[in-house]
Amino acid sequence: MQPEDDLVRFASDEPSALAVENPLSWKLLVVDDDEEVHEATRFALHDALIADRPLRLIHAYTAQQAAEAIAAEPDIAAIMLDVVMESPDAGLRLVRRIREELQLADVRIILRTGQPGYAPELKVIRDYDINDYKTKAELTHTRLMTTLIAAIRSYEQIHAISENRRGLELIVNAAAGLMELPAMSAFAEGALLQIAALLKLPAEGIVCAQKGLPFDNAGGAEALHVVAAAGRLASCIGRPLAQLAEPEIVTAIHDCIARKTHDFGPRHTVLYLHDHKHEAAVFVRSDKTLAPTDRQLVEVFAANVSSCFGNVKLVERLNFIAYHDPLTRLGNRAAFLADLEAAGAAGAADQLVCLLDIEHFTDVNNSLGHEVGDQLLLAVARRLADACEGCHLARIDGDTFGLVGPKSRLAPERLLRLFETPFAAGEQQLQIEIQFGYCRIAGSEPGETLYKRADMALTHARLTRHTRYLHFTPKIEKRTHWRLDVIRELRRAFHAERLAVWYQPQISLHDDEVIGLEALLRWPNVPGFVHSPAVFIPLAEDSGLIIDLGAWVLDQACATFRRLEQLPRRPQRIAVNVSMPQLRTPDFSNHVLRTLAKHRMPASALELEITESILVGEPAVVLRNLNALRAQGVHIAIDDFGTGYSSLSYLRQLPIDCMKIDRSFVEEIDSGRGDVFAETIVALAHKLGMETVAEGVATSGQLARLRELGCGIAQGFLYAKPMPPDTLIKWMGTRNVGLAH
Ligand code: C2E
Ligand code: MG
Ligand code: MG
Repeated sequence: MQPEDDLVRFASDEPSALAVENPLSWKLLVVDDDEEVHEATRFALHDALIADRPLRLIHAYTAQQAAEAIAAEPDIAAIMLDVVMESPDAGLRLVRRIREELQLADVRIILRTGQPGYAPELKVIRDYDINDYKTKAELTHTRLMTTLIAAIRSYEQIHAISENRRGLELIVNAAAGLMELPAMSAFAEGALLQIAALLKLPAEGIVCAQKGLPFDNAGGAEALHVVAAAGRLASCIGRPLAQLAEPEIVTAIHDCIARKTHDFGPRHTVLYLHDHKHEAAVFVRSDKTLAPTDRQLVEVFAANVSSCFGNVKLVERLNFIAYHDPLTRLGNRAAFLADLEAAGAAGAADQLVCLLDIEHFTDVNNSLGHEVGDQLLLAVARRLADACEGCHLARIDGDTFGLVGPKSRLAPERLLRLFETPFAAGEQQLQIEIQFGYCRIAGSEPGETLYKRADMALTHARLTRHTRYLHFTPKIEKRTHWRLDVIRELRRAFHAERLAVWYQPQISLHDDEVIGLEALLRWPNVPGFVHSPAVFIPLAEDSGLIIDLGAWVLDQACATFRRLEQLPRRPQRIAVNVSMPQLRTPDFSNHVLRTLAKHRMPASALELEITESILVGEPAVVLRNLNALRAQGVHIAIDDFGTGYSSLSYLRQLPIDCMKIDRSFVEEIDSGRGDVFAETIVALAHKLGMETVAEGVATSGQLARLRELGCGIAQGFLYAKPMPPDTLIKWMGTRNVGLAH
């Protein structure tokens, strides 16, 4: 008998020439309690080859040890099994265990017994799929060999079928799983790992490359790029294949793609994947040529995966679109938020978030065309990308870019300097101004919060005169909330028709008649809100609400003007204030003319008050609108003259009929500071052939001096405050009566 712990012995223990290291050997388990049988078998099978493959013997002396050996060694091809061992039916029990408990269907079983009287019933042989039953005496060398050859052939076939089935299951599952992966890189990596699993090879040494850059659907770039790699080669992902320091891999992949076929070599397998548009190759390093079954399996897999290829590309394209700006190919807002989320989570203290806005970009689009606008955006994106290497750069929307990166890169002086030189856009060299808002990253903060803060800082910088940039502070946040509250309330009041238009008379200083009226928007009876248009008009401008509000004021003003026609001495015209966002609307002039037509009002009865600030940037669309209106006879007045960016050269370009002297200059007249400004403005207006209206005339002293200076019209509390239409009509009535006497 054998010592207890040496009962199961493997052929490697034997001095025999059996090729124990060869992974292609057939594993044969010999189970017998008689050492002589083991010896005889060993001797008989010494150097035997079946289907060109050697045998590897595993020895067990009891059914229990045999069961342990089976558990430890997968893929045993055949078992030569003694029936009578620990018990008279120990062998038969083991057979039941193998088939029923362990569910091993492939392994072939040859029963051997020394006692012919213990022959199992036919039923057992059939039910437990036993290949052969021989008495030991029957097993001469030749019989043993023929029995074994038959058993192993049978095993090979059964095993191939079940392996194929398993492989096909794997393929179906893998392909289904791969289909769900959104990106080509993930898909390729999945395919690569599945192939490694299929071939039972380590994933190391596998490269997957595709023709063209990842994400490039245009097919422009033809160079092969590594899209997925496992193990040591993982660092090559995203790099051109040519840069790989492994010439064997580079050549094998190139050859595979050139020949458009799989390559099953002795040291590697390269699979060719393709659909009608794309090509890729998967390189798997191995130490032997694949067995035909494996080869078939891999071919089926490659065909299956190829058909997913196009779909994955499509999904990837959709993903690309979802996270990228199609024009600049930079990340979009969603991508920027993801970058911020990552930066916020990392809580990197020396990092800044910056939102950067191009001033008056809409004017470039409107006046020079969208193509020039696009060129400008591309040029800005390029300059920012070059200067801010290592930062995340995204195009948030229209003319806003987002940056996240180290403070040193995003310092305001540095960014401002970038915009000192003009940008080439088509034929044009465009000088642009930018404004930006910053937010520091401190502690771990959600990306959305960081974005909002930088956005608040940017909005605040936009609203603050002569300010190019601001850093976020809690004060800015408070102010932003207040602004948003007011805008929301204003919008609500507007839609609920709670706004009103009041009118302030303008008096001709030649004959003291009411020559005109100025329409002024009012927001009455809202407790807790600042009513002054000086406060809410800029907010309405900023939110775009002014476009609808302004249209409504114009409509009201025209209606009121028509009501006044019944009066014996009615004003010649009505003045309406117009904001920049309205004038920038390309359809503005048509809209005004349509409103005049609706009220059957002559164009000369309307005066539009604009401010000097609209002259900044010389937006062509504004000039077009004003010229079109003036050509129809609408009067144009410059409001608050002298307080904005006055420039005589601008004045000459603009179609202006009237200058309104700002209240501050009128106030100076009798405040002791003199009347030099008022005098200059009146003189200038005379020279340019324009009328003058003095605003905010509150005292008779001011009035007398303005008259002396030759100012034609006065408007102010001295005559009347702004009034609702009914009050105005009454006021006009009493005034007419007064004048008649
Ligand atoms: P503005 O166009 O310069 O209007 C004249 C402002 O001076 C009005 O202020 C008027 O009430 C005020 N005012 C007139 N005479 C006197 C005076 O003798 N003393 C004093 N202290 N003030 C006088 P209001 O109505 O508060 O409007 C402020 C600004 O809001 C307007 O300045 C105008 O720029 C803007 N605004 C008002 N209504 C509209 C509108 O419908 N559309 C647009 N775009 N802006 C409007
Ligand atoms: Mg005005
Ligand atoms: Mg004014």
